[in-house]
Amino acid sequence: MSKKVYVAGGGAAGMCAAVYAARNGADVTIVEKNTRLGKKLSVTGNGRCNLTNLDMRPEYYNKAAQGRMKNWLSLYGPEETIKFFKSLGVIVKSEDGYIYPVSGQASTVVNALINELKRLNVNVITESQVKAVKKAENEKSPYVLVTNKDKYEADAVILALGSLSGAKSTMSTGDGYYICKQLGMNLKDTYPALVGFKCEDDGTMPDAGVRAAARISFYLGDELLTSESGELQISRDGISGIPVMQASREIIKFVSEKKPVVASVDFFPEYDEEDFEALKRDMYKLRDNRTLEEFLLGFANSNINSTVLKKMKLSPAMHMKNIADSMVSCILDRYRDIRFNLKESYGYIQSQVTTGGMSLGDIGDDMSVVGFPGVYLVGELLDVDGRCGGYNLQFAWTSGSIAGTAASM
Ligand SMILES: Cc1cc2nc3c(=O)[nH]c(=O)nc-3n(C[C@H](O)[C@H](O)[C@H](O)COP(=O)(O)OP(=O)(O)OC[C@H]3O[C@@H](n4cnc5c(N)ncnc54)[C@H](O)[C@@H]3O)c2cc1C
Repeated sequence: MSKKVYVAGGGAAGMCAAVYAARNGADVTIVEKNTRLGKKLSVTGNGRCNLTNLDMRPEYYNKAAQGRMKNWLSLYGPEETIKFFKSLGVIVKSEDGYIYPVSGQASTVVNALINELKRLNVNVITESQVKAVKKAENEKSPYVLVTNKDKYEADAVILALGSLSGAKSTMSTGDGYYICKQLGMNLKDTYPALVGFKCEDDGTMPDAGVRAAARISFYLGDELLTSESGELQISRDGISGIPVMQASREIIKFVSEKKPVVASVDFFPEYDEEDFEALKRDMYKLRDNRTLEEFLLGFANSNINSTVLKKMKLSPAMHMKNIADSMVSCILDRYRDIRFNLKESYGYIQSQVTTGGMSLGDIGDDMSVVGFPGVYLVGELLDVDGRCGGYNLQFAWTSGSIAGTAASM
């Protein structure tokens, strides 16, 4: 008799687990709260789905997970992921190591997984909310999966219930944390991550959105928390973009605790001190009868210029001939250290991932729950989060494949 495996949650990790369990001969059912499978997966990577990354390292994940990730990634990493998607008919391409489906459509990935589930006769129950996993008295089917509509006897249960991150339509309501706590598991504090931040409104934020290459460093008092480079986005109320999202995993706890975290932005990251001094000397030559605004016109984006002047309380109409050399030097230096005080993150709905989750201390190497043989946890429900760039989906595929295989045996 084939094993009866129930997968709670039909997102990336749940669908992957279901495919592996069914390919191994198990009788698999997915129970999904949403109207269809893979809702969040279909909006990943700006609709292009960054499946994984060829530059895969344990240190790109949270500290608590790095030791375990080393082992798990050695079992199932980017190479296995690419092979898996090829087996579903999804050809991928690399953009500097970032792996996407050639189609450029996340829907290709979702539909290929759904087609494979159909081909493997996996039963899919949608619009059904899992409420609990209970031990059954029945030796043959040791677990009961309880939903808002029914109860199902199972040999194995894979909990793939996701996190709190993502738009409301993705149903990321953190149900899994409550269900796992009922099993006596430990929950590590959760925070939104891969997210931007609102800044204190001191009247100096740009009037219109700005996108610019920058290096951004985050400080708690004098302590440097982390630095990232990339395309920074500044809007009227806050900062975002890839470097901010990457840094968010390191700073979110402090910001959430209302600690004074400051972002210092360098808009000339490619210049060393000597190059920048040379640039300044060239700029001094433009000190004729221009206004300060005219002088700065080609130095940076006009919205950045006005933010710098507002921060320094200088009028753009000032005449350059009335500004001393030392002051011009100060103004130009400011482009390497523009400071913003962080107020709060944009929250779970705007975030791509949740840091924290169910403790890995309660999980075996095959993703099974200690003390509950036959119950497995996969994906973002666990205390595993990675950098932006395909690392979070890689964990969905890694954990899903390991648990799906183990549950079917
Ligand atoms: C906008 C956005 C873009 C992203 N882009 C990328 C990217 O390009 N690359 C990358 O690596 N990562 C990306 N991520 C992160 C990635 O999508 C997640 O890490 C990944 O989807 C997690 O997979 P999961 O299966 O654990 O959770 P999910 O995909 O969230 O799946 C969980 C499923 O469980 C269901 N569910 C929840 N509660 C219940 C319940 N009680 N009963 C039944 N079902 C339930 C949900 O409806 C959902 O279908 C992105 C995230 C977001 C929000």
